[in-house]
Amino acid sequence: MLQDYTLHTHTIGFDGRDSAQTVIERARDLGFKTVGISNHFIVNPIIKNTKMYPYSVKGGYSNIYSSSFDEVLARFVPHYHELEILREQNPDMKILRGMEVDFFSDIKWLNGFEMALKILKPDYIIGSAHFIKYNRTLLNTHDWKNADTETQDKLLKIYWTNVKHAAESGLFTWLAHIDLPKKVGLGIDDKWENCESRAVLAAAKTNTAIEINTSFYRDYLYEPYPSNRILKMMAQNNVATLLSDDAHEIKNIGRHFDEASQLIKQFNLKRLVR
Ligand SMILES: [Zn+2]
Ligand SMILES: [Zn+2]
Repeated sequence: MLQDYTLHTHTIGFDGRDSAQTVIERARDLGFKTVGISNHFIVNPIIKNTKMYPYSVKGGYSNIYSSSFDEVLARFVPHYHELEILREQNPDMKILRGMEVDFFSDIKWLNGFEMALKILKPDYIIGSAHFIKYNRTLLNTHDWKNADTETQDKLLKIYWTNVKHAAESGLFTWLAHIDLPKKVGLGIDDKWENCESRAVLAAAKTNTAIEINTSFYRDYLYEPYPSNRILKMMAQNNVATLLSDDAHEIKNIGRHFDEASQLIKQFNLKRLVR
């Protein structure tokens, strides 16, 4: 096994299906020595006005969205406390407290985030951009699908600028699913190479790793996040990487790790997150 840990996982109480204890047990059964829980940390004053929010209420996972840092802390403080108890109960496993954070670049958010970090002291922080600011609202990647091509290009540009800023911030241990828009079929064309390369270079500069996220292996585009084009840039700029299963249920823990390990070798990615 190339990697004896799994760190990108989601649990009950947020948008995962299984408890942290079950995730730990499954990771142990699969031979992992370290397991991290990284639930969504998505804070924005207008997050509950988004198109996405009512769906999350219906689906029972609206807990991943907070309008304020007080609200997110009220969820993460007891959550981290539970993980500390699980540490004591599972001494054979190294259990880490992570978070998958949606990055926003305004000063209010940055100040609130730093305050929250002082209280929570996470072991690692995953940076992501499921939302972008557009016309005074926040658009989730899924909202882009029905826009016209011109608007989609605008949205993609905003997306990549946001990812670049996230990389430049140096706040994150690594970046998640960096080419997320391909989830809805966008940003695949070679014309996006320049935008991607600016984000990868920023990550290289701040020593921010970029994960290989194995949740995207589709019939029509059989690859993980990121694409071969980005993997090549990561190798050229000596960016560190790791495998992430992004498991929202235990059956997905360690999914496609063998295939993704082959990519690490194929692209000669030398630096692995330890
Ligand atoms: Zn994500
Ligand atoms: Zn995730």
